[in-house]
Amino acid sequence: MAKILIINTGGTIAMSEDHSTGKVSPNGENPLLSSAHLFHLIGDIHTEDLFNLPSPHMQESHMMQLRQRILTAVEEGYTGVVVTHGTDTLEETAYFLELTTNLSIPIVVTGAMRSSNEIGSDGLANLRSSLIVAASPESKDKGVVVVMNDEVHTATYVTKTHTTNVATFQTPTFGPLGLVSKSEVIYFQRLLKQEYYPIEEVQTGVYLLKAYAGMDGLLLDALCEHHAKGVVIEALGAGNLPPATLPALQRCIEAGIPIVLVSRAFNGVTYDVYDYLGGGKQLRQSGVIFTTGLSGQKARLKLSVLLSSGKSLEEIEKAFAC
Ligand code: ASP
Repeated sequence: MAKILIINTGGTIAMSEDHSTGKVSPNGENPLLSSAHLFHLIGDIHTEDLFNLPSPHMQESHMMQLRQRILTAVEEGYTGVVVTHGTDTLEETAYFLELTTNLSIPIVVTGAMRSSNEIGSDGLANLRSSLIVAASPESKDKGVVVVMNDEVHTATYVTKTHTTNVATFQTPTFGPLGLVSKSEVIYFQRLLKQEYYPIEEVQTGVYLLKAYAGMDGLLLDALCEHHAKGVVIEALGAGNLPPATLPALQRCIEAGIPIVLVSRAFNGVTYDVYDYLGGGKQLRQSGVIFTTGLSGQKARLKLSVLLSSGKSLEEIEKAFAC
């Protein structure tokens, strides 16, 4: 029988609505703690609270603690782990775990869009689907997955796409790995490339900027002056930037700051195709690093993790090429 640990970290799944004001806030007692008995047919389920945080409060130090708890859970003989998490930064924690663990057992991250006492609350349904995924032998060696609304997504590419809808988590470009149908998980595809970077602590000082028509170099210069450790830019289209950013961009590169480019477009990958001022061809020639399908927030975490594991600029470029 599967032995599964549910690790609660907070988020809407652990919150309640005040029906007189409509406010949603954390509870003193996590409502999920009393629900494990509902799932005894799925496996031997144990539940614990690691944090009770709204996910905008989640920091890399919390992610490191969560990673450590999961590693200890494996030593304790758990055959699967389900992490409950606020949905705002769920994809970042899930991807952090994907990059920094190398485990064969299923690691599932889930949450809810509606709090525990709201009409149509999705928390228990998502928890149940996540436990089904975590208990399935089919889920071994799949990396870290996000299970929401009966879909299984890879942590690497999943993203929150809607502020309130329960079908918010989607995987642009690639689609979900599988789905939960009643009490079974069915996989249709798998993540081909898995990465693993064991780290002791997380490098902070890596920033994320978004490009826009008319952008200048002020923010890039500010980051350079404040000795940023790395910068990710959500560039335009296939990977282009407005010309007025270029002098500052060059100053950052000359200062040895890794500059990683993703696209601000929802679908697709960056590609250095355009040969004009600020076009991808020229950006790559000037030392900008291109990515393949990661969102800005995921690329920012990956750059932090790569820097934390002591990778050189060349190694960072290689790691983003795959
Ligand atoms: N703001 C909440 C959080 O991320 C949203 C949620 O959990 O769905 O903690």
